[in-house]
Amino acid sequence: MKTVVKTVCDSESACIRCNWCAPVCPVALSPLRLFALAQDAKWRAAEKENIASCLHCRRCDDICPAALPLSAVFARAKSEIKKEERARAEAQRLKARYDAHLLRLHTPPSLAKTNPAALAAAAQKSLHNL
Ligand code: SF4
Ligand code: SF4
Repeated sequence: MKTVVKTVCDSESACIRCNWCAPVCPVALSPLRLFALAQDAKWRAAEKENIASCLHCRRCDDICPAALPLSAVFARAKSEIKKEERARAEAQRLKARYDAHLLRLHTPPSLAKTNPAALAAAAQKSLHNL
């Protein structure tokens, strides 16, 4: 559920889909769509909708008849997206480190001094056989 929205907005009001927010956005975002995606924590989709370019100008807040704190929700969503990106990068870093460790572990010492291509191929082969 609506984790991000809940943490920045305790209001009971909901989007009435009037779409007044779209024409006032200086960077041509759809606050309506972004709000719906943030409600469902659909970060990838929000990224594709270009949430990163939100300027937090609050023009959408000002015009929203439901008084939704759109800009604050988008700021929070961006921070969640960054958190996820950092977690993904860290997971990739650890995976690369682990792969390098396995590579060292399964490299025959006799190959260690020969050409790097043969060494890499042998290590890859042994990795696939794990
Ligand atoms: S202005 Fe507010 S109520 Fe209207 S569509 Fe945008 S977010 Fe929804
Ligand atoms: S706060 Fe973001 S989404 Fe809202 S009008 Fe400004 S740039 Fe557009």
